[in-house]
Amino acid sequence: MFHGPTLAFKDFGARFMARTMEHLAAGDSKEINILVATSGDTGSAVANGFLNADGINVFVLYPSGKISEIQEKQITTLGSNITAVEIEGTFDDCQKIVKQAFVDPDLKIKNLSSANSINLGRLLPQSIYYFEAYKQLQAPLSNVVFSVPSGNLGNLTAGLIAKKMGLKVDKFVAATNANDVFTTFLDSGELKPRSSVRTYSNAMDVGDPSNLARILHLFNHNLSVVNDIIFSKSFSDDQTLQAIEKVFNKLNYIIDPHGAVGYLALKNYLNEIENAKGIILETAHPAKFKDVVEKIKYINVEIPERLKKCLDKEKFSVRLSNNYENFKEFLLT
Ligand SMILES: *Cc1c(COP(=O)(O)O)cnc(C)c1O
Repeated sequence: MFHGPTLAFKDFGARFMARTMEHLAAGDSKEINILVATSGDTGSAVANGFLNADGINVFVLYPSGKISEIQEKQITTLGSNITAVEIEGTFDDCQKIVKQAFVDPDLKIKNLSSANSINLGRLLPQSIYYFEAYKQLQAPLSNVVFSVPSGNLGNLTAGLIAKKMGLKVDKFVAATNANDVFTTFLDSGELKPRSSVRTYSNAMDVGDPSNLARILHLFNHNLSVVNDIIFSKSFSDDQTLQAIEKVFNKLNYIIDPHGAVGYLALKNYLNEIENAKGIILETAHPAKFKDVVEKIKYINVEIPERLKKCLDKEKFSVRLSNNYENFKEFLLT
């Protein structure tokens, strides 16, 4: 699902939302200011989707030093109506700042809007590709399982919405890395948000997934129903590397670290199920995680032309501490 302009599945949601918002806001006298927190891929997809949109400015907040060089270049080299804000902190700090800004009465005048996966404008188009994938399956269609590399749980929620709309999915596999708050929650019923830790699949490094509230709402807060529909398992960086190697050696396919976690979780789930059809959502192009995948012997990833172009451009960002007041002051001035 990584064939869009920024090579991540987030292009689907981000581009639909950008075009829709631009259309709906056309003719408004007030500019819209979009705030988006990113752990890597959201920022570039959203920024690229909104680039040069009329009447819309985008502020992308990202954790300094915690995203790959390619991801950073994709965010910080666009210019025009896109401002990259480099926060000295974690992704969760960025998300906290954004959430606080939305409820701050002093910022009402800025006409703020969100572009994280808390925005339904991104989730709804994401539901569509579940139908498309299902359509491509060969009969017999029993036990259809989608494995979703998960962080903020937006992609998973979009799948659950597709199921609610009638798509015959038997199980969703929520694949997580060491940031396993959701996995632990399903096992124990206890929600323990915590700071995210850095992993090879860094777009899934989320310690307090925003869409969990939405998932619980979809199923009336009934945890046993949620557990019937979703299986979740977490995997380490070492296991991720082994999976990349295995997929490469067996299938001659270079899977990126996020897809690799999805592969591991699907394999784990299918161990116990017969006649199932498993689909892994491969969420990023391996070139975006070249350093990781090339740890495997004989793997060599070609960087696509559109990615090469932004690597040559100069980075431009505004650097701020993780203190909310600093960000607020920056936005108001
Ligand atoms: C964002 C992202 C994810 C996680 O998706 P969520 O909707 O946040 O759960 C997985 N893989 C990649 C490559 C991503 O960019």
